[in-house]
Amino acid sequence: MRTLMFEGPGALHWREVPDARVEHGRDVVVRPLAVARCDLDPAIALGLYPMAGPFPMGHEMVGEVVDRGDSAGDWQPGDRVVVPFQISCGECVPCRIGRTNACAAVPPGASFGLGPAGAHHGSALSDLVRVPFADFSLLPLPDGLDPVAACGIPDNVADGYRCVADPLADRPGEAVLVVGGLAASVGLYAVMAARALGSGHVVYVDDDPARLDRADELGADARAVVGGDWVAAVGRERFAITVDANVLDPGRTLAITATAPCGTCTSVSGGAGRTVELPLGVMYAKGITYEVGRVHARATAPAVLDLVTRGHLDPAAIIDAVVPFDDAPGAMVDPRTKIVFLA
Ligand SMILES: [Zn+2]
Ligand SMILES: [Zn+2]
Repeated sequence: MRTLMFEGPGALHWREVPDARVEHGRDVVVRPLAVARCDLDPAIALGLYPMAGPFPMGHEMVGEVVDRGDSAGDWQPGDRVVVPFQISCGECVPCRIGRTNACAAVPPGASFGLGPAGAHHGSALSDLVRVPFADFSLLPLPDGLDPVAACGIPDNVADGYRCVADPLADRPGEAVLVVGGLAASVGLYAVMAARALGSGHVVYVDDDPARLDRADELGADARAVVGGDWVAAVGRERFAITVDANVLDPGRTLAITATAPCGTCTSVSGGAGRTVELPLGVMYAKGITYEVGRVHARATAPAVLDLVTRGHLDPAAIIDAVVPFDDAPGAMVDPRTKIVFLA
């Protein structure tokens, strides 16, 4: 089978590798149908996020079951499935309490398409992928839901959703601030989720005109950063719920500064460097909750699928281009926000 191999910054090539196959009873082999480009993928492809190749790329997918092990639940060849990108068993303590990004049955970070950081599992930009623990991890693609719209649900869409879902459940109708940036689609999905979950006012701050236009179309109060002064975009306004999808220091500083006393700020990245400065004194004085960590893909995806199937959230609204797998090497570094690869 062929797979898209990251072989170093700027070097992406389709390579022939042995076919993925069932290796354990709970495995299913899936043929990817549609794959969404994760916000992290262009950074990896360009070498901005230091990861050593070679490894196969792509991890947000909808696929079709082609083979199954003896204990792979009810899945049958031909079933269309949403595939959470993290590997999770469903039986360990973390999995059972919904902390599916920390499954104890696999190495930390185990996921598709992230090479050594993902413990070398298969990848979505491949003809076939082996999915471990498929009886637990896979979700059925709801009838009528386009794989192109659904393929990002178990990663970037869920990531945006989780930034606002619990905070809005605690504070119904509350205003939300989303600081956009490098986690380009996650920030916009946070806007969508906040609107879908009933936030009364969603403010979106960014320095990118295209993302600001998208946020405006999605119903946010979109505010451009002028002269590099991110904090000035909100002035003295404070928000009980803030989201840092910017990833860089100025955006993170704005998100924390604009968080109201006793509010919650969620960062979707720890930044590309090993350490990041945080104003802990300010955070302590305000008593804010600062959430940082990866999404729990399997645990979060069902709620997102439910919002999407009920028509409250449309992941496809921010897709800039749908391109064939053949075009993935170039499209992986397309500067636009959201690209979907179609098998
Ligand atoms: Zn991802
Ligand atoms: Zn587990």
